[in-house]
Amino acid sequence: MTTRFENGIVVTLGENNRVLWNSTVVTEGERIVAVGDSSAIQQRFPDAEVVDCSGKIILPGFICTHHHFYSTMARGMSIPGEPASNFVEILERLWWKVDMALDEEDITLSAQLPLIDCLRNGTTTVIDHHASPAMRDGSLDLIENAVRQAGIRASLCYEVSDRNVVGGGIAENKRFIKKVGKGDGQIAAMMGMHASFTLSDATIGECVGIAREVGVGCHIHVAEDSTDREDSFAKFKVPTVKRLEKLGVTGEKSIFVHCVHIDETEMDILAATRTSVVHNPESNMNNAVGVTPLLKLLQKGVLVGLGSDGMGSDMLAQMRCAYLLHRLANHNPRVAFLEAPQLLLQNNAEIAERQFGLRLGEIAEGRPADLAIIDYQPPTPLSEANFLGHLIFGLVDATVDTTVCKGKILMKGKQILSMDEARIASRSRELAPKMWKRLQEL
Ligand SMILES: [Zn+2]
Repeated sequence: MTTRFENGIVVTLGENNRVLWNSTVVTEGERIVAVGDSSAIQQRFPDAEVVDCSGKIILPGFICTHHHFYSTMARGMSIPGEPASNFVEILERLWWKVDMALDEEDITLSAQLPLIDCLRNGTTTVIDHHASPAMRDGSLDLIENAVRQAGIRASLCYEVSDRNVVGGGIAENKRFIKKVGKGDGQIAAMMGMHASFTLSDATIGECVGIAREVGVGCHIHVAEDSTDREDSFAKFKVPTVKRLEKLGVTGEKSIFVHCVHIDETEMDILAATRTSVVHNPESNMNNAVGVTPLLKLLQKGVLVGLGSDGMGSDMLAQMRCAYLLHRLANHNPRVAFLEAPQLLLQNNAEIAERQFGLRLGEIAEGRPADLAIIDYQPPTPLSEANFLGHLIFGLVDATVDTTVCKGKILMKGKQILSMDEARIASRSRELAPKMWKRLQEL
């Protein structure tokens, strides 16, 4: 099917970003086949379906390079006793109970709801990190089904950790990685691992062996809190990134999430091994773990992307959070204006390309047809020269109207077309209290 998304302001992004007023994007099947002036395009594709984008801006779909769909049912839950006072208590009292309490239907619903949120926010590609120790085997298939139903792209993995059983989750990753193989452009797979402080050398070695055999990367939390660094020094006499490098976890397909507590030698290792880092500013602030040395990492040439860590699926909000956080943390109102958008718009596309083998994040002929079409009437002139000002101070609060992935319209006029949101949310409200009750008994 051929569709003209016409009369909008097209922002192409990519290496040579252009802002094109009164323009049209034409999609055919899963690809973009033309971009340009609306009247000229209309003559070239007279029979195409038409989606009027007047009063809207057309951007490439957004990418989230670290998410946790499984955290959905924790929303609004109360935990008896004193609130967690540090990062390890947050894991022990909250997340390691939430993941343990999930049953089969919870896993599906927990994925469907953030996927709907992705559609609402124009997020068309997600790299997820899943855990559900009581319902582990086959859990990635449940999430894959939800992703395919939603219609977006996702790279999935299961969080291996020695915390419940030694090497728990290795088999689920292995099974899923082999099933997905090189992927079909919609679903990809990684080797998931929790973090250095819950993994023995033997477990990491087994994970790396499988990842290397199949040619996938590892997706692991690194030095999120100072305890991960302290644990690595205490047990292995080296900092976290050094330990992981020695065990072969680094590499251009691998993702090291957070990297808050790392030193310059570790940054050099990340740059030399072309390992990606994913920054999650809202999550770091929420858990009060510290500030990722973002500017230093970028100066060192490390590829740093942007994730939500399960805080949400609105990537423009995460981008603005990064912008604000690093201005404050550096006490410098001159920084982060370029860097925060760079993480979301360029670096996430680079990281996604390493997972999916597709160049996403650009509106150009031949590129995948993933679009976020946003209600936006610029109050001041808008061009390539000042696009980032509009992005950070305007588009971040604008509403996504239409979301397209693989050429399919998944949300139009703010109506989700691929999933029944009311039914899914209602069922989740029914099951969540039961999940909370199981959790209290753990
Ligand atoms: Zn995470």
